[in-house]
Amino acid sequence: MSGSEPHHLAQDHDPDWTPERERDEVLSLRAPGSGAPRRDIPVTPVDHVPALVERVRVVQEGWASLEPADRFRRLRRLREVLFHRGQEVVESVVLETGKPYQEAWMEVGVVVEHLRFLERQGPRLLQEQKVGAGWFFWKSAHLLREPLGVVGVISPWNYPFVLPMDPVVAALYAGNGVVLKPSEHTPSTGLLIPGLLEEAGLPPGLVEVVVGHGELGEAVVLGGVDKVFFTGGAETGRRVMAAAARRLVPVSLELGGKDPAVVLEDADLERAARGIVFGAFFNAGQTCVSTERVLVVDSVHDRLVELLAEEVAALRVGGGRGTSDVGPMVLPSQLEVVERQLSQAVAEGARVVTGGTRLDPASNLFRPTLVIHVKPEMAVAQEETFGPLLPVIRVRDEEEAIQVVNASPYGLFASVWTRDADRGRKVAVRLRAGGVSVNDTLSHYGVAGLPTGGVGHSGSGRTRGREGLWEMTRTRSVFMDRSGFRREMWWYPYTPRSERALAALALMRAKGGLSGVWIGIRHFLGLDPTRPQVEEEFRGGGG
Ligand code: NAD
Repeated sequence: MSGSEPHHLAQDHDPDWTPERERDEVLSLRAPGSGAPRRDIPVTPVDHVPALVERVRVVQEGWASLEPADRFRRLRRLREVLFHRGQEVVESVVLETGKPYQEAWMEVGVVVEHLRFLERQGPRLLQEQKVGAGWFFWKSAHLLREPLGVVGVISPWNYPFVLPMDPVVAALYAGNGVVLKPSEHTPSTGLLIPGLLEEAGLPPGLVEVVVGHGELGEAVVLGGVDKVFFTGGAETGRRVMAAAARRLVPVSLELGGKDPAVVLEDADLERAARGIVFGAFFNAGQTCVSTERVLVVDSVHDRLVELLAEEVAALRVGGGRGTSDVGPMVLPSQLEVVERQLSQAVAEGARVVTGGTRLDPASNLFRPTLVIHVKPEMAVAQEETFGPLLPVIRVRDEEEAIQVVNASPYGLFASVWTRDADRGRKVAVRLRAGGVSVNDTLSHYGVAGLPTGGVGHSGSGRTRGREGLWEMTRTRSVFMDRSGFRREMWWYPYTPRSERALAALALMRAKGGLSGVWIGIRHFLGLDPTRPQVEEEFRGGGG
């Protein structure tokens, strides 16, 4: 336990504490590159969560009752705070993950873009909206977007700033409070967030961070929150959804992927190779939307592999600041997944073209690896790898590529590479995915107006953009009568006249246009020669 931490240990206020629970009381963080002990942080006892949620709720109610303009003004200041403290955030991210500084700055940049989007679009997107009242043309209908209350945000370790911050800022714009559980592997950056918000002028206690393992995440789901926004693996997502079902809490799930890059015969192969290598090895492949498999058509397979091999071999691993392209794997267990998938693929006939080993046996640095002769049924082509490994699958043509891509239960993001933009778009929209790009990859995440999210095992719900903001709201329908009539014609008692009136309205709307109005009036006045006959038959009166 580092002496400088200004906190209390859980046992100070937990009567049930026993020495056997010691392991769970403190998170011992390690440096991702070397595994050296770095810092101890006390965990939040699970039974503290419900009271914490209620504390946040009290602050949230005050926040939601502020004039929207006041809320938006304070949130605008958050961008200024990041201007001054962005470097501090970057240092924290680098310390926790070992990623290159450039990649940590990307996290700050992406959050800033999201804030700018919310500044420009948020007020309009949250405004009351008039809805057409349809056949009730003498009434008014409106839609309000209201905060949910307290949102539980549960985040993974691969992007310790952007993945918690994206849902947090969307939740706050919409008037919510948040209980945030960052990953147990990267809690320090999450712990910075409340301070950044308070500096921007947001009320203290509107966002509370809890620190701990999966059981604490489950306590957040069950702890009285009004929604769970979960980002993490598919298996955990399943557990989160099951726990949420016990309390009927709505969930958004941002899960893993097996993102394909489809390379067609008319692609600019040099651009494709550079883009795919960036998409596959950015953040050492530990990105939900990283390129996890290449499907290349037969005629350009060999040339693409040559180009990919050159690009991958040129990547610099584990060097100093500004001289390293690929950092370490954050978790030793994740590195074991990479090694297992690779050795299994090789045993089944795949071939490593470049890379394939750790930089040195004791480190978490794995050489960027290109592997070919991969078959769609191999684990490396089916399971999420989440590491610096790029498998190449040879396909006959575009149709086979689409078929192989769509056989995966995952569907997060996909890219298509071709010189023919129209063809690229047509193929891209046939791929099972929540998002697609043509001749590009990863950069889409920098466009804050484009929501991110998946289908199937990649999850449901969206983050960022209009849909990401609306995920953090509940709609309230408001319907008002403005006629002043003493009664509506369909209220009790039912009479032949009220029945004719309603039927006339339905027929008028079904037919539409002026002729619909004509038919409606005629029916109401009993001047429609065909309808009474139908009614007779319907009532059995004609028989
Ligand atoms: P993980 O699923 O192991 O953990 C994610 C978070 O869930 C952690 O904070 C963890 O403590 C918590 N958790 C664990 N068990 C829980 C439970 N039963 N109830 C509630 N919370 C629980 O994921 P990870 O290893 O931290 O992250 C890697 C995964 O996240 C990959 O699969 C990756 O693809 C995915 N991911 C998805 C996106 C996306 O936007 N779709 C983004 C980044 C990462």
